[in-house]
Amino acid sequence: MDAMADKIENALKADLRAIRTAVGALPQIQTRSPIDLVEQGTRMIDCFENWLLDDEQTQILSMQPRHMFILFAAAYLGDIGLTDGNRPVGADDRELIYTRSAELIRADWHNLGIADANLADIIARVCLLSRSDDGSKPAGVSTDGAVPNVRLLAACLQLARALDLKATATIAHIYQHLPQKGRFAPHELIDFFSVTNVGPHPYLNATIQLKILCSDPEVHRALKHHERSVQRALEHMNQQVRPRFLYSDVIYEIEPEGYTPIDLKFSVDSSAGLQLFMGNRLYADKRVFLRELIQNAVDACNYRRLIDQSYSPAISIEFSDDISVIKMRDNGVGMTRQWIEKYFLAIGISFYQSNEIRDINRDSRIDFGFISQFGIGFLSSFLVAEKIVIKTRKTGFAGLAITIRGLRDYFDVRKLAEDFPVGTEVTLYLKESKIKYCRSLEFSGYLKTNIRFLKIPVTLRDERGNTTTIGREQLAYETAKSAGPVFLAALNFEDSEGYVRLGAKNLGDHIHALETSSGGVSVFQDGIFVTQMDSLLPEGARSHVVSRINLMGQDKCELSMDRNRMFWTADQHQHIKKVIRHGLVDVANLLMAAARIQDVPKNTVDSIVNNLAIFFDFSDVDDVMYDQLCEPLRKKVKKRFRDFVRISFSQKQRAGGTVEADGYNEAWQRAVLQSFVKRKEVN
Ligand code: ADP
Ligand code: MG
Repeated sequence: MDAMADKIENALKADLRAIRTAVGALPQIQTRSPIDLVEQGTRMIDCFENWLLDDEQTQILSMQPRHMFILFAAAYLGDIGLTDGNRPVGADDRELIYTRSAELIRADWHNLGIADANLADIIARVCLLSRSDDGSKPAGVSTDGAVPNVRLLAACLQLARALDLKATATIAHIYQHLPQKGRFAPHELIDFFSVTNVGPHPYLNATIQLKILCSDPEVHRALKHHERSVQRALEHMNQQVRPRFLYSDVIYEIEPEGYTPIDLKFSVDSSAGLQLFMGNRLYADKRVFLRELIQNAVDACNYRRLIDQSYSPAISIEFSDDISVIKMRDNGVGMTRQWIEKYFLAIGISFYQSNEIRDINRDSRIDFGFISQFGIGFLSSFLVAEKIVIKTRKTGFAGLAITIRGLRDYFDVRKLAEDFPVGTEVTLYLKESKIKYCRSLEFSGYLKTNIRFLKIPVTLRDERGNTTTIGREQLAYETAKSAGPVFLAALNFEDSEGYVRLGAKNLGDHIHALETSSGGVSVFQDGIFVTQMDSLLPEGARSHVVSRINLMGQDKCELSMDRNRMFWTADQHQHIKKVIRHGLVDVANLLMAAARIQDVPKNTVDSIVNNLAIFFDFSDVDDVMYDQLCEPLRKKVKKRFRDFVRISFSQKQRAGGTVEADGYNEAWQRAVLQSFVKRKEVN
């Protein structure tokens, strides 16, 4: 049981004893039931040692015995602020306790059994940081250079104290939630309830359970309020602290004695919640699980690449010959048992939303971004599968095979053979009724449209054993469909990529007209399809031009939960439209150049020019576009603007207004406006 304390060296153990003795000798507050800080500290240490910290956290803390020592010392010293003022703690004083504790530790360290001022300072900081007992107050101080885990230590302390319903500070907090404060004094609160058990919940995963007997309805409600604030604090800590806690929920199971409690509040039924996120109503297309599994595989590969740059990622999908089984494999990071509990099983929690990962996502030096977001993607597999087997192994850990037969069922977990390769393999056994629908062709079609820009190629083996590779596509486009030449122009983004395509129809051996096609703009993000939009193209181009864009890095956009809609900011939208307009200039010039080489008859050229000119609305043509447009098109655009100016100005003049036009600030537009004004003046 003393596994953690054993890690503390003997010298430090003696120091810890000295601290305990010093705390025991401190003057106590004069109340009916004196506070025993030594006993409180011992309870907290029990909690650290027995269940609160998971293996990963324990391992990290015990790599540095001093950290463990600091945590234990802080458990004894954290509330010594209480002994200073010699008066009972009220709600207003709660903040003060920790400030006072920190002051006392720093000033009085030699009398408190602490070896030196430096150590005292770190202990004081941990105590101070542990002060916030409702999640609303962030533990603001950033991580400490010398002791990197100050934040983790403070979080442990804070959580252990909050869950210790006998701790004086906790009692003060609970007391605060009583509607009538005068009924009894804070220290009398413990006469109304007793905690019969605290620890991991026996059957709810990642949940802390407190079993409480309570004899008063108001106290019951105050305890429920406290439960909620601990829950908030825990959520907050898990966003801030690494490694995060194994727990994501706290439940106070309160058994009422002699009253009927009213516990009304909004709640989510967990199996209904699972159904909701599983996606029957979330996703329109049942094949969406393919995209979700591939996203997970890509993220896992990219995450491994962060750690090991020389590694080469691989993803594959295999269909069984009767298409009743689909197997997806990646050689990414893989998962450990704890990882599975923390991230894979926790619905709505995604590893890829943690702060450090978000920073990586924004780092423009890295050529990928993590795709995952909402922590629900995997559930979509249950739309089609009746059984799912996940085999996964992380470097340096034992591999695991997990069999899931249904959302509500417990999983079957086995160890894998030693030689299972690092990575994850997900096997879906499709539901009977879906098999007809699930032809592999339909799947591969879906994949081709959805992941064609993916940087990591996906190898697909169909039911007949044929293998194809999808992804890594850049500016390729099937030209076969077109009756004439096809012109492609790359789009010029900082972080993203894309192209516009314009086809021509031939008559005999020369270009005769523009091809009609209406695909709009297909927008991808991180290589995966999101939506198709016409509105990104100028109206005049919509029936001839097709475009594909893959947003990455800075250009990335907020997505809806089903990943089918984009929430652009006005700036993003403007920027993308502008890049596309520049691409249209290139593609129109290419077509015109081809026509010139082919010596296309003049009246055909004229009609093509007329068609192309409507791609360019003169109010959107900036100077760069204007200069780049080939001569005949530029003339057309300029003429249309001149006509516009002439008509609208003569109207204005007739109405007695001044000659000016708003919003035409490009140099070429101003030149047209000026020549018009001059001509008017001459007249
Ligand atoms: P999200 O992808 O939004 O996080 P998911 O439900 O798809 O939500 O996955 C939950 C978590 O499970 C991921 O955050 C990731 O940590 C883990 N995970 C899922 N698939 C894999 C995989 N193939 N390899 C490694 N980890 C995975
Ligand atoms: Mg996912």
